[in-house]
Amino acid sequence: MFREPQIPLSEPVGDRIEQTTCYMCACRCGINVHLKDGPDGKPQVRYIDGNRDHPVNKGVLCGKGSAGIMQHYSPARLRAPMKRVGPRGSGQFEEISWDEALEIATEWLGTVRKSDPKRLAFFTGRDQSQSLTGFWAMQYGTPNFAAHGGFCSVNMAAGGLYTFGGAFWEFGDPDWDLTKYFMLFGVAEDHASNPIKIGIGKLKARGAKVVSVNPVRTGYNAVADEWVGLRPGTDGLFVGALIHELFRTQQIDLDYLVRYTNAPWLVIDAPGTDRDGLFARDADGNPLVWDKATEAYGNGKAADIQPALTGTRTLPDGRIARPVFELMAERYLSDDYAPETVAAPTGLDAEEIRRIAAELAHVAFKEEIVLDQPWTDWAGRRHETMIGRPISMHAMRGISAHSNGFQTCRMIHILQILLGSIDCPGGFRYKPPYPKQTPPNLLPHGAAGDIKPEMPLGGPHLGFPHGPEHLLLDGEGNPSRLDKGFSWDAPMSAHGLMHMVINNAAQKDPYGIDVLFMYMANMAWNSSMNVPGTLDALTAKDENDDYVIPRIIYSDAYYSETVPYADLILPDTTYLERWDCISLLDRPISEPDMVADAIRHPVVPPDRDVRGFQEVLIDLAHRLKFPAFTNEDGSAKFPGGYADYIVNHQRKPGVGPLAGWRGEDGTSFGTGAPNPDQLKEYVRNGAFHAHHLAPEHAYFKHANRGYLDWGITKGIRMSAEPTIFQLYSEPLQKFRLSALGHGDRQPPERARDRITRFFDPLPFWYEPLEGTMIDTGAYPLNAITQRPMHMYHSWGSQNAWLRQITAANRLYVHTSVGTSIGATDDDWVWLSSHLGRVKCQIRLMEGVNPHTVWTWNAIGKREGAWGLDEDAPENTEGFLLNHLISELLPKGGGGYRYSNSDPITGQAAWFDLRVAIAKAESTGATEPMFEPLGHDSQPPSPEKLAFGVQFRKETT
Ligand code: SF4
Repeated sequence: MFREPQIPLSEPVGDRIEQTTCYMCACRCGINVHLKDGPDGKPQVRYIDGNRDHPVNKGVLCGKGSAGIMQHYSPARLRAPMKRVGPRGSGQFEEISWDEALEIATEWLGTVRKSDPKRLAFFTGRDQSQSLTGFWAMQYGTPNFAAHGGFCSVNMAAGGLYTFGGAFWEFGDPDWDLTKYFMLFGVAEDHASNPIKIGIGKLKARGAKVVSVNPVRTGYNAVADEWVGLRPGTDGLFVGALIHELFRTQQIDLDYLVRYTNAPWLVIDAPGTDRDGLFARDADGNPLVWDKATEAYGNGKAADIQPALTGTRTLPDGRIARPVFELMAERYLSDDYAPETVAAPTGLDAEEIRRIAAELAHVAFKEEIVLDQPWTDWAGRRHETMIGRPISMHAMRGISAHSNGFQTCRMIHILQILLGSIDCPGGFRYKPPYPKQTPPNLLPHGAAGDIKPEMPLGGPHLGFPHGPEHLLLDGEGNPSRLDKGFSWDAPMSAHGLMHMVINNAAQKDPYGIDVLFMYMANMAWNSSMNVPGTLDALTAKDENDDYVIPRIIYSDAYYSETVPYADLILPDTTYLERWDCISLLDRPISEPDMVADAIRHPVVPPDRDVRGFQEVLIDLAHRLKFPAFTNEDGSAKFPGGYADYIVNHQRKPGVGPLAGWRGEDGTSFGTGAPNPDQLKEYVRNGAFHAHHLAPEHAYFKHANRGYLDWGITKGIRMSAEPTIFQLYSEPLQKFRLSALGHGDRQPPERARDRITRFFDPLPFWYEPLEGTMIDTGAYPLNAITQRPMHMYHSWGSQNAWLRQITAANRLYVHTSVGTSIGATDDDWVWLSSHLGRVKCQIRLMEGVNPHTVWTWNAIGKREGAWGLDEDAPENTEGFLLNHLISELLPKGGGGYRYSNSDPITGQAAWFDLRVAIAKAESTGATEPMFEPLGHDSQPPSPEKLAFGVQFRKETT
């Protein structure tokens, strides 16, 4: 009888498994690393798969995560500390010892700290340890610190936090299990990759409707039930039209607005005065509402009143005031947001807009969800059920990376709130430790008067100004920070403006610096706008033939395009060789039903002379005698390095980087004394800790008495007061009043109109700024980028098999655009902006807005970097749109050039780019082609890469 051959499908591939956390994107999935001892007896990585018990990915692993082995063994890994011995950019380095490297760094950093700490700029890129790097910079005393959020996500974070105390991205999730209607705005498939894939899978299985709003129909947008392919930068108009329709048809959750928002709060209407547009308040500062029950003014924060949502009132002092809701109705019912008005600029059909608004209202109000789950609200009122409006939304870079992104993001949140769908069953859900207060009570630090030699700053760098009094300025009103964050240029720049650091330093505007210290930020290539300009800035010399940026220290694990421009290289480990902490103080891995954080731990020892950057920072902190890193007797506070810091550092008593297994006996969660065995517990538990919320705390976290009180005891919430959604944002109006001439602090003349216009307390749509300042007739198309699912970082091309999917990017254009220039697939074209031009090959497609061209980000590489062959397609055909994106807007009134950013948050406006396309006569290779980078310090890459071949069984 024939028998199937017995094939062992589950044969162990390694000697043992270590569990840790993936690093290939911001999802931070749990992974099982299969290890096998090599011929030298040392463990080697054999295979990586997903951890089924992990709260983020539940075993799912994407291509990038499973290819981590190729990242780990990349031939482009740095091997030892190096100092530059040739000109910047030449790639001429000499290997040095760690002792020498740390002595050089200590001397450079120490000299600056003793004289003027602000002359150090410390900026990090894809850093996942910002609670440490920010704390380090605070201890150093420089105001010049931020991570990459300013060119990535700050519009989302700030737009959400100022509005409802939460945000999209890592801080909240759709209710994947109960949502019936899901809208994605500007979401590419790179971020939140596995969780969104799992979530969309659930929606599809349940038959929920998925609507994608995106100029490009790829990835998640390709599997959506409906594609709204609008023109880039017009999302706010589309959302405004949906809000218009909800107001017009009176389909708004008024009870929800009264309970949870400032819709009834009265706004003073006294043009020309210093209180115009602020909330009317009682003697204790409480916002006033008109109470219909008593027919008198009442405290808007009190329970059990019946506030009016409409009606002009005369305040006791004779001034006029109107409720926020009425101002909103006036704004959004105007013709500016009528579907017919919005149709042309968005490229949508008015009927389509009306239908989508009607669908939203139908699902929210006719298909409500009722859970038999009692809970108690903030005022102590018990509710027997939880009622949900099953609409959820998610937005990403397509919203964020525009100069109108902050207000657009606020509009999306207002749409959610009008439908009553924030943190309810089926709606958008906060992930603990969110929600925060609105506006958040974390303020920025680093005003000129607070910067003193050898003194830490008084608090964290990044925060949320409530008005001009919180700007970081010097005595003349000039920016205190090098990137001009928290100045009149970008008052609410909660993540800083990393994209401006190098340009400003080279221009000495607002001042020069002595040391630029960067971590894992590929600023000489795909992380900079205007790459040619950035390279000029990195190599600019003064009249003495000295570099204008005198010292550059850089830490990275790989030989990227930025390494050759640094003077001192501190080589980092890979993610499998170091400790890491994914902390509640920073960007934790919580899910809506659980508080969770995680670690990475060294599962293999480094085979090079490299050190984890966080270890190096802690070593430097002690050498520089930072108070929080040095005992009174001068000894190191954390002699065990980063692992020691993770366990023993306390940001305040009982609160440290990790929340799990706290207390001396390890039985506490959230708060508690340091536990010497804490990391052992994390390792034993698969490198994470998760605390599940009680069912009565699952929803309405912004106003859930039990959750709010519990959050305080666990150190994840500062206030027991509910989070009140700010449909109308008073901090914005305070900036506006200053621009109108009120108050002690006023902007320079050039900024008055800009602040008056954009700091509208009610969200509105305006045209992205670049398009208003250039000849759009000459540059008729929008150009955007997105990252593919298989290539999150520029370092992704080290994944030998994934790079074969997209070893060279194409410019995707609508078929009609190709036809108009007589070009077809793979033809070469010139793409021009007001800054420059690139030559690239096109690919025609139908699933793109006809006025939009796009490409995959970070595929193009510079020859000499990343260990690639000189004729690698990434070098010869791959291209970057970055070369076309100016970091500065054209000159405005008075000749001043603002950064190419959102005027409120300073978010880099990558997606505002306008371009023209023309068929190229020449073919063959992309342009501009930069000089190959020298890479003699790196061993040559092998002819062929092979992984695990040493373990292959002998075959006969
Ligand atoms: S989605 Fe993929 S790359 Fe991102 S953390 Fe998870 S496995 Fe890693």
